[in-house]
Amino acid sequence: MNYISTRGGGTALRFQDAVMTGLADDGGLLIPAAIPNVRDRLNDWSGLDYKNLAFEILRRFSDDLTDHELRELIVRSYNTFRHSEIAPVLAAGPVHICELFHGPTLAFKDIALQFLSNLYEMILHRTGGRLNILGATSGDTGSAAIHGVRGRNGINIFIMFPKGRVSPLQELQMTTVTDANVHCIAIEGTFDDGQRIMKNIFSDVPTKDRLALGSINSVNWARVCAQIVYYFFAAFTVMRRTKATEVCFAVPTGNFGDILAGWYAAKMGLPIRRLILATNENDILARFFNTGEYFSGKTVPTISPSMDIQVASNFERFLYYRTGSDPARLRDLMAGFAKNGTLTVPLVNGLVDPLFRAGVGDTKQTLDTIFRYHRNHSTLVDPHTAVGINVAERVLEPDAPTICLATAHPAKFPDAIKMAIGRDVARHAVLEELKNKPARSVTLPATEDAIRAYVEAHAR
Ligand SMILES: *Cc1c(COP(=O)(O)O)cnc(C)c1O
Repeated sequence: MNYISTRGGGTALRFQDAVMTGLADDGGLLIPAAIPNVRDRLNDWSGLDYKNLAFEILRRFSDDLTDHELRELIVRSYNTFRHSEIAPVLAAGPVHICELFHGPTLAFKDIALQFLSNLYEMILHRTGGRLNILGATSGDTGSAAIHGVRGRNGINIFIMFPKGRVSPLQELQMTTVTDANVHCIAIEGTFDDGQRIMKNIFSDVPTKDRLALGSINSVNWARVCAQIVYYFFAAFTVMRRTKATEVCFAVPTGNFGDILAGWYAAKMGLPIRRLILATNENDILARFFNTGEYFSGKTVPTISPSMDIQVASNFERFLYYRTGSDPARLRDLMAGFAKNGTLTVPLVNGLVDPLFRAGVGDTKQTLDTIFRYHRNHSTLVDPHTAVGINVAERVLEPDAPTICLATAHPAKFPDAIKMAIGRDVARHAVLEELKNKPARSVTLPATEDAIRAYVEAHAR
């Protein structure tokens, strides 16, 4: 499989080079040159366990790895999970819930970042190279990436997080990892500031090459492709149980990485009737799918902080396909957005894309959903998952069951749980341990110069 830039520049890359490159050199995002069609494999795959299914799907995107290498990567990545099924699916009231939070840091980011970290290590081991990872986090990516690469040879990691805007536990999950190769940077700004700084530094190709910069954000294709697997796994599980022939997925969305993986799964041939895109009050994506207009507002802090995002980096991949896979048209749209802060795509029958339904779950609705699922269905969901369930409940289809992706363990957000049900019932031993550990981070202004200088000074 070759990878090309959404903006049409550069030469095609193989999978491993695409992973090492992260953001394409012309500022675009890397996408597979073709989307594999696996419709004739669905029957054979429907009974596979998670790791074997991951192998079948990922090998279609990474044919420059040997089968043996890919199997090793998958086994090493998912052996760290605390649940034997990796992504178990439970029924809860009118929906099914796919739990993606059984990895080391209790959020779905582990699914892709365990894989990406092992992949980085394997490639560096072969080439004898080094890597300085620079990433921005709205809360969960940072800790998942840090846990993926802590203590590994040849890898240094720099994570920017918005000071005071991640939950206290999310912060401790990063700052209590005191390995010498880990650098946590609290920036005096928002996640969008961090992501913009990161993209600017990556677009400076000489600096990127000199510092051997690598990306763990979902601009990195390896993340999207590892996430495609659980759409297949959850759909097969629910279709087997319910005898349905199609499913819907509800996805709490911030950076459009998770739901984009669902879009690829659908294009590969998985029978997905609808992708239900759910946002919190930071609703740029929900507004876009309902009106065709994409313009960012101010980021507001919510009880689902990992979705407090107004400029979704992966959106460019979707936009590329939506504008007819035409890099010139995409470049125009992105240039217009950079200049005016807005872009528009025409609606077809009142929709941007018939596969998507989009809605907002606000704070009150989110708390109510947590309360109801706890009381009525004995299921405790975290506030991100609750946003997805809340929007899903408005668009249920009688004959296509809805699978809500549970993106974090509720214990990561004890304050929201307490607000919703009045009691502090969300606990996890992994998080309890953090409270007494020493923490380490630096605070820097949210400017490209400050971050660049810090990385230059501490890079290997
Ligand atoms: C990152 C994250 C999301 C949003 O995922 P995107 O890929 O950014 O859309 C939702 N919930 C949780 C818990 C997250 O960590």
